[in-house]
Amino acid sequence: MSDKPVSTSNKIVLQLVVWIPLLATVFAIYSLWGRFITPVDLTLLVVGYTLCALGITIGYHRMLTHKGFEAPDCIRGFFLICGSMAFQGPALNWAATHIQHHANSDDEEDPHSPLKSFFHAHVGWILDDFSPDVQRYAGPLLKDKLVVFVSKTFLVWALLSLLIPFLVGYAFGGLTGGLYGFIWGGLVRMFLNHHVTWAVNSVCHTYGGREFVTTDQSRNNFLVGLLAMGEGWHNNHHAFPRSANHGMHWWQIDPSAYIIATLEKLGLVKKVVRIAPERLAVRRIQADVAEERDVLPGLHIPIPGVVMEHGTAVAAAATTMAEVVTKASVHQPPL
Ligand SMILES: [Zn+2]
Ligand SMILES: [Zn+2]
Repeated sequence: MSDKPVSTSNKIVLQLVVWIPLLATVFAIYSLWGRFITPVDLTLLVVGYTLCALGITIGYHRMLTHKGFEAPDCIRGFFLICGSMAFQGPALNWAATHIQHHANSDDEEDPHSPLKSFFHAHVGWILDDFSPDVQRYAGPLLKDKLVVFVSKTFLVWALLSLLIPFLVGYAFGGLTGGLYGFIWGGLVRMFLNHHVTWAVNSVCHTYGGREFVTTDQSRNNFLVGLLAMGEGWHNNHHAFPRSANHGMHWWQIDPSAYIIATLEKLGLVKKVVRIAPERLAVRRIQADVAEERDVLPGLHIPIPGVVMEHGTAVAAAATTMAEVVTKASVHQPPL
């Protein structure tokens, strides 16, 4: 974490950004009793939610933080601006926070591990005045002029994400239409984007299955997978952080991956990182071996660098890799 103390004004802004969308959502639901949501409100909510969610998943996460694919500046700028509109902070701050998470997953230095508490992992870490250390965790990104520009102008894009739904609502329904456009397309949309993204940090490190052995508590969660455009396949993601695909089976729905693949077919993105089937097979065998060595359920002996699902015999760690190599007889290609 950065040593710089969070300023009082920043603390106030963080509180407002967390609580106002919640209150606005409660009001929006309450107002449904007196006035049905209009098609304009609903369209603003759905379109706004989708663009902001993709800005985070494709732009901030898979493209910027993990370099899962390469794209020209117009595509990069589009996704980074959509990400900024989600009100989750400037791209540089988001990337630094997320790299810190991957570097210290479920350790003391993890900004948002549920091992502290579920609430802390979800939103408490933001309310606790967390401040990212951009220089340390995202230093190379400071050389990227486009990323620096979009980060410095973050407030413009964030405020536009509130102004646009107001103006569209106003065009269709005057001042009342503008107000409800602002609430549904601005604040409720922000509330949903926030909590779905935060659920990846809290729910997906607590509830769900683990297909791969990783050094953390990451989980695959179907519901978050759906809502968060594929980001809920979080155990897969921690096992293969640079992969542009988080879904590793046909049934693991991953809309962000489908969009990246479509952009690739159109020639708009290139060098998409995908994990070779042989490498997936190796990691699955590794997980199977860990499961087979679960000789005494309930016994948990922590092994440095490896998190086992139930209880595990110590011998598993020593022999896992040797068995993997023998069984798979394949080389692991570089990412
Ligand atoms: Zn994680
Ligand atoms: Zn990640």
